[in-house]
Amino acid sequence: EGKVPHVVGVMGASGDLAKKKIYPTLWWLFRDGLLPEDTAFIGYARSKLTVAELRAKCDQYMKVAPGEEAKYEAFWKYNRYVAGSYDTRRDFELLDKAFAEFHKGSSEVGNRVFYLALPPSVFETVTAHIKETCMAPKGWTRIIVEKPFGKDTASSAKLSSHLSSLFREDQLYRIDHYLGKEMVQNLMILRFGNSIFNPLWNHHNIASVLISFKEPFGTEGRGGYFDEFGIVRDVMQNHLLQILCLVAMQKPCSTRADDIRDEKVKVLKSIEPPTLNDVVLGQYVGDPSGSGEAKLGYLDDPTVPAGSSTPTFASAVVHIRNEKWEGVPFILRCGKALNERKAEVRIQFKDVPGDIFGGMAKRNELVVRVQPNEAVYVKMMTKTPGMSFEMEETELDLTYRARYKGVKLPDAYERLIVDVFCGTQMHFVRTDELAEAWRIFTPLLHEIEGKKPTPIPYKFGSRGPTEADDLLAKNNFKYYGTYKWTDPGK
Ligand code: NAP
Ligand code: NAP
Repeated sequence: EGKVPHVVGVMGASGDLAKKKIYPTLWWLFRDGLLPEDTAFIGYARSKLTVAELRAKCDQYMKVAPGEEAKYEAFWKYNRYVAGSYDTRRDFELLDKAFAEFHKGSSEVGNRVFYLALPPSVFETVTAHIKETCMAPKGWTRIIVEKPFGKDTASSAKLSSHLSSLFREDQLYRIDHYLGKEMVQNLMILRFGNSIFNPLWNHHNIASVLISFKEPFGTEGRGGYFDEFGIVRDVMQNHLLQILCLVAMQKPCSTRADDIRDEKVKVLKSIEPPTLNDVVLGQYVGDPSGSGEAKLGYLDDPTVPAGSSTPTFASAVVHIRNEKWEGVPFILRCGKALNERKAEVRIQFKDVPGDIFGGMAKRNELVVRVQPNEAVYVKMMTKTPGMSFEMEETELDLTYRARYKGVKLPDAYERLIVDVFCGTQMHFVRTDELAEAWRIFTPLLHEIEGKKPTPIPYKFGSRGPTEADDLLAKNNFKYYGTYKWTDPGK
């Protein structure tokens, strides 16, 4: 008790996100000494839980390794739990008291982080109560917010204006966990820390850009929640668009958070909203010859409304109407129940002008593989080794697990929570950025919901609808099917 300068409040501590992601992340940061000394934690929710019960819920996700038991005990000693409602001032006053207990006698000011792991329905009352009763009296107060940040322009604007009426922008940390991933953060360094890429990074040299997110599993019986949102809101409007910004933005004048976010907003402002004509929508169906979940289609999930036309796959072409990118299609593609887990960016360069090789040269492609197995590689042409004067595709390859043996890449949430403590907002979504992202996708989402186009069925475990490949071909992205890779690590 007492003398704790930093306290994290987990609002909705009894829930799924709290036990699977937030408490494990806090524990790993604690274990690795990445939090300020003596940071403490207070869980808050309606469920009447003891710390021991909370701990029991979290245990299976905490990955405590042999030898870490004493530290793990120490972590829980820094934990409190307060049960209370989301709409009673009195309960928040008790929560405030619990914070004050920790701060008591601290020579430093007491800082507070509130992590909102709550359904959107109670979001507004909880934030209003935090503002009224639980702000740090002397130190800073920072609020971490998880998606969904609304469902469209109007609902998101309502939420944003509510938050802005209570907190300053520098107190708000909207999480898009893709911004916490190693390779997404690396985009800035690759682009602006290398003379070989930056001068080529424009419509003169780049033919098209493909940004993909693929998941090998379906809704696993929890499609009810997903069905209200669909893949465009779940992945495209946030994660893929954030990556697009980092790929397409101009060089910011510094690495300060607001300089970067200013450039991201400029890219978003230059994007024309796509319409149904620019997209391919799909929904997975069961694969009769598959095993387990793969036999089931989206509509076989009992929590999904019968006959739902919610897309589980989407591919969309967007155009950035600015001097750098005129005429370069950016294709965003995401889906569930596909053949593999993968998130990557492919920058495809134009055909070599003035060809002297009879059309043998294939396009260069820079691939930034976000997950799994982080890698950056450039597909390029080389002389076939030996006597011949033929050419073939090869690669310049930076594979992380080969180049950085034994280096542990922190989880996205770990980095982002450390950023919150440091007050670094570079990897968080600013209010105007969010509004622009919704401006781009709201017309399409409303069109989908109004016209309810029938999504194209694709088989569980496939690459998605073949129409999505046609969309790539129509948008200046070439697939040759001739590239062969041998894993040097094998
Ligand atoms: P959750 O488990 O459904 O809710 C968290 C807690 O909120 C529950 O334990 C419950 O606590 C309280 N709660 C639930 N429904 C409520 C209701 N209708 N009215 C009032 N209180 C209610 O949600 P979650 O999965 O942890 O997600 C929290 C937030 O993070 C959501 O906005 C979600 O969209 C977002 N998110 C979740 C994930 C994830 O992996 N789960 C990922 C990204 C974003 P008490 O009953 O004890 O008060
Ligand atoms: P690729 O074989 O030329 O394929 C490029 C991509 O085209 C594929 O990933 C696939 O992705 C897509 N595709 C497949 N069939 C298609 C079709 N009919 N029409 C249109 N697109 C199609 O090159 P690659 O995927 O870059 O490399 C081949 C393999 O080597 C991959 O497994 C890659 O991970 C591996 N590799 C790894 C490293 C490394 O780890 N450092 C380096 C080089 C290569 P979608 O299914 O997503 O469309």
